[in-house]
Amino acid sequence: METIEFTRKLTAKKEYDVIVAGGGVAGVAAAVSAAKYGRSVLLLEKSNILGGLATLGLVNLFVPMCNGRGKQIIFGLAEKWLRQSALYGHDSIPAQWKNGEPTEPTGARYCQRYSPYIFALQLTEEVTHAGVDLLFDCIASYPQMEGGHCRGIITDSKSGLEYYACKMFIDTTGDADILRRSGMPTVPGENFFSYFGKKITLDSCRRAVEQGNIAEVYSFVSGGGASLYGDNQPEGIPKWSGLTVDEVSDYLIRNQLLMLDNIRGDERKSRDIAMLPLMPNFRTTCRIDGDYTMKIMQDVYRHHEDSVCAINDFDHRDYLYEVPLRTLVRHGFDNMITAGRSASGSGYAWDVLRVIPPAILTGQAAGEAAVLALEEQTAIYDVTVPTLQKRLEDANVMIHFPDEYVPQDRTVVIHGNNMDGHIEGHN
Ligand SMILES: Cc1cc2nc3c(=O)[nH]c(=O)nc-3n(C[C@H](O)[C@H](O)[C@H](O)COP(=O)(O)OP(=O)(O)OC[C@H]3O[C@@H](n4cnc5c(N)ncnc54)[C@H](O)[C@@H]3O)c2cc1C
Repeated sequence: METIEFTRKLTAKKEYDVIVAGGGVAGVAAAVSAAKYGRSVLLLEKSNILGGLATLGLVNLFVPMCNGRGKQIIFGLAEKWLRQSALYGHDSIPAQWKNGEPTEPTGARYCQRYSPYIFALQLTEEVTHAGVDLLFDCIASYPQMEGGHCRGIITDSKSGLEYYACKMFIDTTGDADILRRSGMPTVPGENFFSYFGKKITLDSCRRAVEQGNIAEVYSFVSGGGASLYGDNQPEGIPKWSGLTVDEVSDYLIRNQLLMLDNIRGDERKSRDIAMLPLMPNFRTTCRIDGDYTMKIMQDVYRHHEDSVCAINDFDHRDYLYEVPLRTLVRHGFDNMITAGRSASGSGYAWDVLRVIPPAILTGQAAGEAAVLALEEQTAIYDVTVPTLQKRLEDANVMIHFPDEYVPQDRTVVIHGNNMDGHIEGHN
């Protein structure tokens, strides 16, 4: 086989205080949190809209942000965006939570299914209002490293290869793509056969008109229908990490052919596929092997001195966690941090960490930590934790869960056949 050598001299197009790669919810949260201090921030997004899986991936549900007994745990930008998403798009906030935390205990969980595309437009508004430079259709491809220090990022876009220098770098690609290429130790995930689009039918259109609610028009259409827990994973179908172009293509081709098969028998004038997921429905592609790795049995109900946010379990009532700064960083990589889907959690703890509300909060923490490290001229893992926590609290993030929310019976059983995103009472 032919081997080629490819060298290019690139002059930095611009230097930024902070570069964020990946404009999913975590990346947007990181970018706006860093920009509010007047820092120069560049957000690179390889697709054409913001939101990642939460918009492009059609995963349009803020999973519960409460403990399942009427106490809200997740606030910050997640709370702000949940409320914003209900302003112009679909509003499925349960009646008990419409006006904030209920005064009485309730089993109704605080979640919200929104319009993915309207939410994407709202994220663009957030980013531009915050003064972030946003490049769409622009792939962050390689970090320029000096030991464990990132000097900048090589991008690939319509303009060809370009280079942007930075002081701090945040990887929110969801796949830890850039951190992996920087040499930071990472751990690959495994993904089941899941691929969901949105369908409309004549019946659903009638229902939407009768109820005067356009949200009723959509239902799911699936290729592979495997759940978070692997239910419905067919025999003989591989589990993909999603880390090579061959795996991504194999996953997409199999799922798209199956989805076509699944609708072939329908009366052709009775339905249409209204939306296809425009990124693979991979839940856990790759995470960093951070300074701390969250694990359910070790971390449920556990306080951490360096917590950057308290979070709740989306599928199990009561279970509470705190996310240490150490899950977002790795010693030796002094100006690099991650957030969202690639934070360091193992097994089901990875699932608890990666869903939309926690991904937003870890994004917020990464943006704040990056600015603080610049101010203190220190490594990102050495920032003054109480200062970071105070800034996050000022941004409405709960850092430590109150002990009175911890039940007497601390037995922990991880179970459930619910697919994330399928909360009873919501479609
Ligand atoms: C099938 C499925 C169902 C789910 N159900 C739910 C649910 O109901 N509720 C819930 O809260 N969560 C759910 N989740 C999880 C949740 O959607 C994601 O974990 C969360 O949105 C992750 O956000 P993120 O910003 O970390 O990453 P992502 O959403 O993956 O965003 C990464 C962004 O980076 C961009 N990008 C990637 N590489 C590059 C690059 N090199 N350069 C530039 N840009 C790049 C991508 O285009 C994308 O916009 C589900 C996930 C799946 C797969």
